[in-house]
Amino acid sequence: MKAFTYSRASSPAEAAAEAAATPNAKFIAGGTNLLDLMKLQIETPAHLIDVNGLGLDSIEPTPEGGLRIGALVRNTDLAADARVRRDYALLSRALLAGASGQLRNKATTAGNLLQRTRCVYFYDPRQPCNKRAPGSGCAAMGGVARQLGLVGVSESCIATHPSDMAVAMMALDAVVETIGADGISRRIALQDFYRLPGETPQIEHDLRPGELIQAVILPPPLGGAQIYRKVRDRASYAFALVTVAAVIQPDGSGRLAAGGIAPRPWRVEAADAALPQGGAEVSAALLDGARPRPDNAFKQPLLARTITAALAQAREMQGKEMMS
Ligand SMILES: Cc1cc2nc3c(=O)[nH]c(=O)nc-3n(C[C@H](O)[C@H](O)[C@H](O)COP(=O)(O)OP(=O)(O)OC[C@H]3O[C@@H](n4cnc5c(N)ncnc54)[C@H](O)[C@@H]3O)c2cc1C
Ligand code: SF4
Repeated sequence: MKAFTYSRASSPAEAAAEAAATPNAKFIAGGTNLLDLMKLQIETPAHLIDVNGLGLDSIEPTPEGGLRIGALVRNTDLAADARVRRDYALLSRALLAGASGQLRNKATTAGNLLQRTRCVYFYDPRQPCNKRAPGSGCAAMGGVARQLGLVGVSESCIATHPSDMAVAMMALDAVVETIGADGISRRIALQDFYRLPGETPQIEHDLRPGELIQAVILPPPLGGAQIYRKVRDRASYAFALVTVAAVIQPDGSGRLAAGGIAPRPWRVEAADAALPQGGAEVSAALLDGARPRPDNAFKQPLLARTITAALAQAREMQGKEMMS
C-alpha cells in the first residue's frame, strides 16, 4: 500500500471543501472496497478524508412521504429498518442478497453506490485495463467475460456495476443528494448518476471534484408486489450474474431494473411498458442493442427467465393477498 495522510472531517461542507482543495484525496466510509483497492495499488489516494463522523447515519421521513437515507447508514441497518422492510421490501431484499453479514455491517449507502466494478482484469495490475489505466486496452475483450456486461458497454470497457442495492434503488427512482465544495447541495436522479463507459470508462459517475454524497432519497412508497431476484454462481457471498428488481401492481403494470448486464443498474422505459406482456418482451426491451460475447450470451435467456420468474412471484404474492 502507498503511504497516505488521513483526516477526519467535522461537517459535510468541510469534507467536500477539503476534498476539492487536496490533490488526489478520497473519502473513506466503510472502507470495504477502497481499502482492498489501495492494498492492490489500484487506487492510490494521497489523502483519505474519513466521513464516518459526519452524522449522516440516520433514516428520516421526507415531507413528500418518502425516506431520506443518510450516506453513512450501514447496509445492515438499512435492510433491517422497519419502514424499509414494509414499504420498500425489494431494497431490503437486495441489500441482504449482497456480500456477507460482516461486510454489510461496515458497508455504507454511499460507498455501495460508488463501489468499483468486479471485472477480474481491473483487479489485476498486470493486465491492460482502460478503466484502471486509461488507454492501456481491455483484457476482457479477448479474455473471460462470463461476469461482464452486454448492453450499454463500449469497445473500451464491458464491465458491469456490481451493486445489488443500486439496482433496487434504480427501480424505486431514487435520487442522490450531494454537497459540493462550494457548500451547495444538489439532487441527481439515480438514472442520470452513472455514466456509460464510451471511450472514458474511468469516469463512472456524475460527481464533481470533492462532491460528497449526503443522502439517497426514496420517493413515497409504491405499494405493489416487490421482488428482488439474484442469480449467481453460488448461493451466497457472490456477485450477480443477473439480477432483477421489480415493483409490480395488481394490473400488471410496474417498473423493473436489472443488474449484472450493464455498466450501471439498467432501467429502460420500454421495458417497464412491456411488463404486462411478459418476461421475454421485457427482456428484449432491456437488451435492445446488446453486444453479447460468446461466454456471456447465456445472460440473454437467463435474464428473460429471471424476469418471468419475478412476474410469476408477483402474481403469487398478489393472489395470496386477495385470499387473506
Ligand atoms: C468479498 C466481498 C463480497 C461482496 N459482495 C457484494 C455483493 O454481492 N453485492 C454488492 O452489492 N456488494 C458486494 N460487495 C461490495 C460491498 O457492498 C461494498 O464494498 C460496500 O458497499 C462499499 O461501501 P463502503 O462504505 O465500505 O465504501 P468504501 O470502500 O469506504 O468507499 C467506496 C467508494 O465510495 C467513496 N465514498 C464513500 N462514501 C462516500 C460519500 N459519502 N460521498 C462520496 N464518495 C464516497 C469512496 O471514496 C470510495 O471511492 C462485496 C464486497 C466484498 C469485499
Ligand atoms: S472490461 Fe473494463 S474493467 Fe474490465 S478490463 Fe476491460 S476496461 Fe478494464
